[in-house]
Amino acid sequence: MSTPSSTATLSSVISCLSDYDPDALPVADAQNIIRQFVQPIQAIEKVAIRSALDRVLAVDIVSPINVPSHDNSAMDGYALRGSDLGKEDRSFKVVATAYAGRAYDGKVAAGECVRIMTGAVMPDGCDTVIPQEFTRNESETNVTVPAGAVKTGDNRRLKGEDLAIGTPALHRGRILRPADLGLLASLGIAEVPVQRRLRVAFFSTGDELRSIGETLDEGCVYDSNRYTLYGMLTRLGCDILDMGVVKDDPASLEAAFRSACENADAIITSGGVSVGAADYTKQMMAELGDVTFWKIGMRPGRPMAFGKITSNGKSAYLFGLPGNPVAVMVTFYFFARQALLHMMGASAESTPPLMRAISTATIRKRPGRTEFQRGIVSINSDGVQEVRITGSQGSGVLRSMSEANCMVVLEHDRAEVKAGDPVNIMLFDGLI
Ligand code: AMP
Ligand code: MG
Repeated sequence: MSTPSSTATLSSVISCLSDYDPDALPVADAQNIIRQFVQPIQAIEKVAIRSALDRVLAVDIVSPINVPSHDNSAMDGYALRGSDLGKEDRSFKVVATAYAGRAYDGKVAAGECVRIMTGAVMPDGCDTVIPQEFTRNESETNVTVPAGAVKTGDNRRLKGEDLAIGTPALHRGRILRPADLGLLASLGIAEVPVQRRLRVAFFSTGDELRSIGETLDEGCVYDSNRYTLYGMLTRLGCDILDMGVVKDDPASLEAAFRSACENADAIITSGGVSVGAADYTKQMMAELGDVTFWKIGMRPGRPMAFGKITSNGKSAYLFGLPGNPVAVMVTFYFFARQALLHMMGASAESTPPLMRAISTATIRKRPGRTEFQRGIVSINSDGVQEVRITGSQGSGVLRSMSEANCMVVLEHDRAEVKAGDPVNIMLFDGLI
């Protein structure tokens, strides 16, 4: 596909790192290399406002109007002149009524007021609104405002206080959320320039894998990675190309890699990148492009391939994720996700922040690798956020992921965690 050709080779990006060791690469270094190597796609399309939900905004949106366009009332009540208010209760003559969408365009003199509804334009001369419930009605035409009930300027929404004309309302790179659609609508914008969707091809590799519907032969497992990948990529808003299970033989792998490369911006594979024998996956990745093979200082998910492959003049970024189901998800979330967002032109704020929680129990951990454990975070009876680990943390135990609501991120240098120690967590909400 039309992935822009980055002139940098992987080795030139890597040469900027001191102490680079592909066999013991810290998570942060791998993230840095990926971030520097991957280039955003440059293609914009205009979509109708509703279709812009979850898409990446491609331009800054500058407000073409003031929102609101006039000073207006924040309450149902009476609009008056603040200078008429004093230390004593004060009686006002009601001279008119102003409705939302139907302004009163007469003048308001000293001692006069206008009955006003929420959202109605402030009548000329009025700068203050007294809510109806604070007043006493003496007659149809007279209300009393008790002393001290309001100050000058109260309950008046100022013209442009939500968005002033000419100011940036939304910045490019933002993933548009429901509030943003409302905001765009408030500016009268019907069509929104967004980045075109990223096309991501993915397939699973391994002779032991069976697709759903096939007989599960002795020693085989159902391919689950393609389904977690389907879910993660769909949530990220990618156009996906599910290429199924590819057998571990050179001809099938070459055909799959070439087809993926010619039809997608990025390729995600799972399996076949560890040190195990009978793997043609790595060989084919290396033959088709600029690909490096890492052993990352992390658990789960140590082996990973990353780079760019080329076929018939088309190129695509490649993420060769490990095969174990939890490792696939962790490496996707902490490497591929950020890279894909960067390719989509999304700004860095699209990654949820780390938060702190107290560990309810000891967590075994040795320094020298980042561990991503699956946790359940909750608020305890003291109102404190605490986290417990979900059962077995084996990299093949997908249940640990399914039961969790957050990832516990134990930093590279950290040693054992004791009960009561604070740990970093990343909520799945917003991530998945
Ligand atoms: P590999 O990285 O190819 O050595 O695979 C590591 C482990 O993950 C093996 O136990 C595989 O059977 C398993 N595995 C690999 N791919 C998949 C998949 N798509 N679905 C489920 N398990 C897989
Ligand atoms: Mg395998």
